[in-house]
Amino acid sequence: MTTMPPPELAELAPGVFAYVQPDGSWMINNTGAVAGDTGHLLVDTTSTESRNRALFAAVAEVCPGQPRGLVNTHHHGDHTYGNWLVPEQTPVIGHVTCREDVLAAGLVAAQVLTGPDYGRIEIRPPDLTFTEAMTLHLGERRVELVHVGPAHTRSDVIVWLPEERVLFSGDLAFAGGQPFLVEGSVAGYRPALDRIRALEPEVLVPGHGPVCRGEEIPALLDDLAEYAAFVDAVAREHHAAGHTPLEAATAEKDNRFASWQESERLVGNLHRAYNELDGNPLGTRIPLDSVWPDMIAFHGGPIGCYA
Ligand SMILES: [Zn+2]
Repeated sequence: MTTMPPPELAELAPGVFAYVQPDGSWMINNTGAVAGDTGHLLVDTTSTESRNRALFAAVAEVCPGQPRGLVNTHHHGDHTYGNWLVPEQTPVIGHVTCREDVLAAGLVAAQVLTGPDYGRIEIRPPDLTFTEAMTLHLGERRVELVHVGPAHTRSDVIVWLPEERVLFSGDLAFAGGQPFLVEGSVAGYRPALDRIRALEPEVLVPGHGPVCRGEEIPALLDDLAEYAAFVDAVAREHHAAGHTPLEAATAEKDNRFASWQESERLVGNLHRAYNELDGNPLGTRIPLDSVWPDMIAFHGGPIGCYA
């Protein structure tokens, strides 16, 4: 069993915290906590029951009391499987499609990414939903939620603190891993990155991987955009040639992004690109378990998960 270094709670600005879990691979994500005069806001939960309990204990040290709210950046289980552990009277806030997709996905992530002891999980979807944007006021502190999907998923929401210039990107940004667009959109991904860039954040908390600061941020966004352009180009060429996504990924296996973590995401991303080239509306649902066998085949065996 692979043992990861312990999670770290980093204060990014006064009262603004990132909970960073190494090594950022499958189901090992980052979350946030934002203190305010009138209570604190949580940004996402994590995957397993024990990781969630450790998260809530760490946050309680710096933000005592019950949370005023919990924002889900998107529907994936590593960000939402702890929703049920916040008090019932604390609203879980997310995009309207986040609610739909938490309910539709159920425990599928835990079923395809076997390995971890997930403990007890109860599915709790967002109960306070919005379509475009929402501003939360924690006393004097302002927190802006903006829907930018479909990109990583249909339900992508960024959490932006304009005064502190801190941005929680959710899984729109993986630092060190390949983007994962199966349940989102290849065409929508670069516009979503552009919206992050336009805000000019000084600190960016990715959904997985280390926190980025200053010039690291545009550099990361450039890398992610170049990856999406690569997926798009591969898809166009091989779709026209009549190759399957798995054949396309295998033919392009040696590429300059192959050293990024979770390189098996390439074939999943090609499934999404093909779906769009076939003329389907952006964000059309592709069930994760329909693509997973190709990802295992491309990976060359079971995909490890160390959460
Ligand atoms: Zn995700």
